[in-house]
Amino acid sequence: MQNFLKTIRDDFNFIEINDKVSTNLEAAGILRKYPKDIILLDNIKESDMKVISGICNTREKIANALKTDVAGITKKIMDATNNPVPINDYKEVQDSFNISKRADLAKLPILTYYQRDGGPYITSGVIIAKDPETGVRNASIHRMLQLGKDRLTARIVPRHLYTYHQRAEQLDEPLELAIAIGMHPATLLATTTSVPINVDELEVANNIHQGKMKLIKCENVDIEVPECEILLEGRMLPHERADEGPFVDLTDTYDVVRQEPVIELDKMHYKEDSIYHAIMPAGFEHKLLQGLPQEPRIFNAVQNTVPTVQNVALTEGGCCWLHAAISIQKQTQGDGKNVMMAALAAHPSLKHCVVVDEDIDIFDAEDVEYAIATRVKGDEDILIVPGARGSSLDPCAKPDGTTTKVGVDATKPLNKLDKFERVSFSD
Ligand code: MN
Repeated sequence: MQNFLKTIRDDFNFIEINDKVSTNLEAAGILRKYPKDIILLDNIKESDMKVISGICNTREKIANALKTDVAGITKKIMDATNNPVPINDYKEVQDSFNISKRADLAKLPILTYYQRDGGPYITSGVIIAKDPETGVRNASIHRMLQLGKDRLTARIVPRHLYTYHQRAEQLDEPLELAIAIGMHPATLLATTTSVPINVDELEVANNIHQGKMKLIKCENVDIEVPECEILLEGRMLPHERADEGPFVDLTDTYDVVRQEPVIELDKMHYKEDSIYHAIMPAGFEHKLLQGLPQEPRIFNAVQNTVPTVQNVALTEGGCCWLHAAISIQKQTQGDGKNVMMAALAAHPSLKHCVVVDEDIDIFDAEDVEYAIATRVKGDEDILIVPGARGSSLDPCAKPDGTTTKVGVDATKPLNKLDKFERVSFSD
């Protein structure tokens, strides 16, 4: 992560704060003031480690990390998930870290972000584990609540890690794991992609890193992890749960308390100058990391219906989760409606979607609003679908998980193109 930091320090707004701040609410208060900048907190009251935040809180920074431009992010993620690259290069823990000791989370500046949070939370931790049945590796990011000096509980949604833990639990065995904190944003983004269970997210990351990734072999567990600032080793216990939450989710609203699996740590590794990466819950870094990897799913579904789709964005204003803006090269009347039906079904959490022509920049909210203002006729261009399955994060969702989906066709009618011509775009 620190090499990446060196490369972006001069290109993006970088703010270094020297004041002494506490991990308890104070640090998060500062991060909230600079939602789109990179912030380095030099002086943390409870820890010798510095805190970094915002290394991927804009599409521009993520594009930089993926070595593409903003419009190319979705295609880059699609290419990486479709073509994982195996990793055969390994190194020992001592090659990356010079401090190795019994796990003690008190050494780390784990932040408490909001007043009603369940406690201090690790928000950039990637859990790496292997399927007890197949040995396939999984890497996924999870929020983790600190329970003690060597205990955590992690929110595990029913995907791959959940399945691994269930399989280990059926054998009455703990699931060995490693937690990596502070990695290159491209690696971090790869851990949030939705690939099939037999695909290793680290190999997806290796595609983005052009096959140059080297993994660190853990000391006590049979797991390999990407280059990171802090490495924790331990296991997820069978048949043990703890209260997880409350915690603020993507929608900037509180998620409920759940019973989640417990992680017990034994070793920790870091360097004297390791920097702790804190992702602000409901901040742009959180939203983009979670939302961007869903854009390819929508793109693929729409492309099956309207091959001339140009690009897809789960917009920041929509929490990178509930709203999509999609641009198409409209070829037949009705394309807009078909696109919205495909999109609303492709990403089940999608609630509202707006379809625009290719002269609209979907990454610019004002431009999208311009399309809605000038090209939408309310009684003809809006599709309302009540009772559809929606997002559990949507505060409007009913207890049965359904919500109302809305599609807005903000494309120009093909039979009156001259009336809608955007002069500044064409002249
Ligand atoms: Mn996986």
